[in-house]
Amino acid sequence: MAVEIDYYELLEISRDASGAEVKKSYRKLAMKFHPDQNQGDKQAEEKFKLVNEAYQVLSDTQKRTTYDRYGLAGLQNQGFQRSSNMDMGDLGSIFESVFGSGFGGFGSSRGGGSQQKYPLDIESETSLEFNEAIFGCEKEIVYSYKKLCDDCGGTGDRDKNPTTCSVCDGKGEQYYRQGFMTFAQTCESCGGEGKQIRNRCESCKGEGYISEQTKTTVSIPAGIDHGNRIRVGKKGNIGKNGQRGDLYVLIGVEDDEHFLRDGDNIYMEIPIFFTQAALGGSIKIPTLKEQREIKIPTGVKDKEQFVLKGEGVANVHNGRKGDLIAQVKILYPKKLNDEQKELLKKLGDSFGYESTPNESKFDGVLDKVKGWFK
Ligand SMILES: [Zn+2]
Ligand SMILES: [Zn+2]
Repeated sequence: MAVEIDYYELLEISRDASGAEVKKSYRKLAMKFHPDQNQGDKQAEEKFKLVNEAYQVLSDTQKRTTYDRYGLAGLQNQGFQRSSNMDMGDLGSIFESVFGSGFGGFGSSRGGGSQQKYPLDIESETSLEFNEAIFGCEKEIVYSYKKLCDDCGGTGDRDKNPTTCSVCDGKGEQYYRQGFMTFAQTCESCGGEGKQIRNRCESCKGEGYISEQTKTTVSIPAGIDHGNRIRVGKKGNIGKNGQRGDLYVLIGVEDDEHFLRDGDNIYMEIPIFFTQAALGGSIKIPTLKEQREIKIPTGVKDKEQFVLKGEGVANVHNGRKGDLIAQVKILYPKKLNDEQKELLKKLGDSFGYESTPNESKFDGVLDKVKGWFK
């Protein structure tokens, strides 16, 4: 049976207390009932747990709203765990998230060299050609990962027999008190290992780990884009107890000389000679997969776009296809020989008035402008 509990009362705050007030009050009470401060006091420990529980609820907007509306039962319906079901280690991490790490005192065994010497996940980069990214491919990734040195069993000591660190007494951490709080920090002498090397291992220069080059083949899904990351499980660094991190492959995509990609859409330019632009007709253009014929209307304009629906890139998440957008670029000759000039002049004459349609428009503008200065 759920006992009704008033988290606001516990934290000694009003119902409309702000997030900052919640945190401030929590800090004050958590310190007051902190186990370090109340050795062996069961009541204080119980109170400490409740204060943490209250903070967990009231510092989380969603949990707080649920609690305000439906009480503790509402929270529990959503899977909320009371602090009586938590161990002190979990509470320690809540405490640390507010106060910052370095606060010991929960009897957790963080020292003694349980930390990893390096992060387990690693990132590598690879460059894909334009079409490899669009259609997907298998790519071999060459990269280096770290693992414990076999020759010294990861100890850094040639004889696999380092001594206990005399500075921290093998705990890997040094403690100091400030007021009633105990602070812990990684032992500088042994770097948290709790051990001191007697004879340095030559293979790893006493580091205890080595880097090894390896390669792995990664399936690149179709539609991947520049800047995407692919996670390859269990291909990262190998840690102390044999656990292996993941490899993240950062994707770079090279440009193409014909196609320009923008998300799932592809842009391309269709150069059309001015005579053909005037005549219109059908022309063949390359799409990502094949040649397609498109109809150019008579008198097509420069930069006019033709959209080929679904001829773009398949979205890497849902497979939906983007469009191919082909944009006209009208080409004019840079030089004309006498014969060409003659032909064009004749052509112009044959249009008569139509060949200089802009002149009449400008006449009107000129008259208007003249009028401004009268
Ligand atoms: Zn030490
Ligand atoms: Zn070694």
